[in-house]
Amino acid sequence: MKIKNSAAIVSGGASGMGFATARLLSRAGAKVAVLDLDQNRLEKVANEINGMAIVCDVTDANAVEEAVLHAEKAHGVARICVNCAGIAQSRRMLEKKGPLPSDAFLKVIQINLIGTFHLMQRAAAAMLSAEPVGPSGERGIIINTASVAAFEGQIGQIAYSASKGGVVAMTLPAAREMAQFGIRVMAIAPGLVDTPMFDTLPPEAREALAMSVPFPKRLADPDEYARLVLHIVRNQMLNGEVIRLDGALRMQAK
Ligand code: NAD
Repeated sequence: MKIKNSAAIVSGGASGMGFATARLLSRAGAKVAVLDLDQNRLEKVANEINGMAIVCDVTDANAVEEAVLHAEKAHGVARICVNCAGIAQSRRMLEKKGPLPSDAFLKVIQINLIGTFHLMQRAAAAMLSAEPVGPSGERGIIINTASVAAFEGQIGQIAYSASKGGVVAMTLPAAREMAQFGIRVMAIAPGLVDTPMFDTLPPEAREALAMSVPFPKRLADPDEYARLVLHIVRNQMLNGEVIRLDGALRMQAK
């Protein structure tokens, strides 16, 4: 899919990998709409990338549908959709004070998995009305964000791993279902990326995490994620697959 002049939607676009992706897509000539929760952060980002800010909670299917339509009115059908909205959670199934409450588990599933599903589904529905382009008849591309925790979840990642495992598992059936329409579905499973998600960690903990990566011994830069997104958008043979972006990291139990 060509990027220049294409419309793109990026959830979680006000921070971290979503922001880096929105910025790089915009630099490559895309018309970008960023979805996130906080109006102020969104507007700053939208100004910086000359894009569109849409406040949207991805757990709300109607809000996601409205956001997709709103972006479409301004930019045309988004042929590129990147799901980056997500939260981390570090809680055990059996905590000292008792079992992890269902609502804490559900919150992570609702944002990371169901929120991803909502935007993937609504963006795909909108793409159906776009003209197929090029000899392969491509209509669009959806890229979701999983995590290496989908494969090697650590102690304390019970809900997070379940949510990201769901994102991984949706990739192939979604790609298969959308193939007849010329829509690709991919996922990226990042390892450790230097985003505000790690802001609460003390420097020693960040350093220890960086040292756990075989090579290169550092956290990934959000731009490295964004560059992979741009490559996936441009490379039509990438479809129905989850790509790890992790420096050969395999997470230990804790
Ligand atoms: P981040 O916290 O910098 O950005 C996530 C954004 O999602 C935030 O701006 C947040 O406001 C937004 N968001 C949260 N809930 C939302 C909701 N209900 N509706 C709309 N927006 C919402 O984090 P990041 O590190 O850039 O993470 C991006 C994605 O990558 C997440 O799905 C995360 O789970 C995943 N991931 C991160 C890492 C890492 O090391 N940082 C590793 C693997 C996977």
